[in-house]
Amino acid sequence: MKNLVDSHGRRVRKLRLSFTDKCNLRCHYCMPVDSTFMDEEKYLHPSEYEEIVRDLCSYGLEEIRITGGEPLMRKSFKEIVERLSGLPVKKIGLTTNAILLDKYIEILKANRVNHLNISLDSLDPQNFKKITYGNQLERVLKNIRLAKDHELEVKINVVAMKGINDHEIIDFVEYSSELGVEVRFLEVMRIGHACSSQNDQFISAQEIINILKSKYELKRVSKEYDSTSFNYILNNGAQIGFIASESQPFCGSCSRWRLSADGSIKACLLKDDGLSIKGKSSKEREDIYHTLLGMKPFLRPTEVAHQMNVLGG
Ligand code: SAM
Ligand code: SF4
Repeated sequence: MKNLVDSHGRRVRKLRLSFTDKCNLRCHYCMPVDSTFMDEEKYLHPSEYEEIVRDLCSYGLEEIRITGGEPLMRKSFKEIVERLSGLPVKKIGLTTNAILLDKYIEILKANRVNHLNISLDSLDPQNFKKITYGNQLERVLKNIRLAKDHELEVKINVVAMKGINDHEIIDFVEYSSELGVEVRFLEVMRIGHACSSQNDQFISAQEIINILKSKYELKRVSKEYDSTSFNYILNNGAQIGFIASESQPFCGSCSRWRLSADGSIKACLLKDDGLSIKGKSSKEREDIYHTLLGMKPFLRPTEVAHQMNVLGG
């Protein structure tokens, strides 16, 4: 079958799958403390994730990433990844806050979920609590080491925020060098709950690069054409990346579609409109994929109302 390529020449080769919108943290840029969540009865069944990913593999899908909410909170996590690992995708990733990682490490290893993006916005317990409303920093740090010990690829995602964690930038660079993990600084995006505070907290990738240049030598490293990050290696060995979605959008080379836990399939994180694929027949799903291909914006939308935890980063 033919690949899914849109009128701007962008090929769909990656899918982000949200397993749940629930979370055991409340990162203040992501969702309000009193968030309400979708009814679990509306979740896609494990077999539906399998069907959709199988369909898209026949159209050239190569990589999937599991996200949320906190994907490790989905009760049928094991069954879904067992189903997905049997499909012909080249790479399976997971984005997680790592709190529950110790309970799932063997399941990840057994089902080739080998690429972990772990959110960690502070190395200081008080600041971690202020940002996330959780006090499990020690457990997260332990689980990052555990993942490394199990030879999983680990990248750390740090949402950089002015006046909140920008004083920890150098600490993260040293952490990257000491642990041998890539640390990526994310610009705060105007999504859902973050729209009201984003202006005050925003710090651009370039501002962070300037801070790093005052202390280190930076050498650019090459990445895949559709990578969301651009990366450097520093003279202390740190591997540092930037996801500069606001100041340097990458929509022109975007290769991703997204699927919410209740089966809304979307061509873009920053668009509210999606198509409902839950309970659809094989023929109906085919029609949905072809319609969705024309729904990916070429110019980056400035903001979106839905909460980040519904679709996942
Ligand atoms: N719970 C998991 C986690 O935190 O890694 C997966 C879901 S979370 C929504 C995925 C990523 O989105 C995290 O790295 C998080 O920091 C990031 N994120 C959430 N809201 C954001 C925002 N407004 N701007 C930039 N990144 C955001
Ligand atoms: Fe939960 Fe991830 Fe959102 Fe934080 S960023 S509240 S860990 S879904």
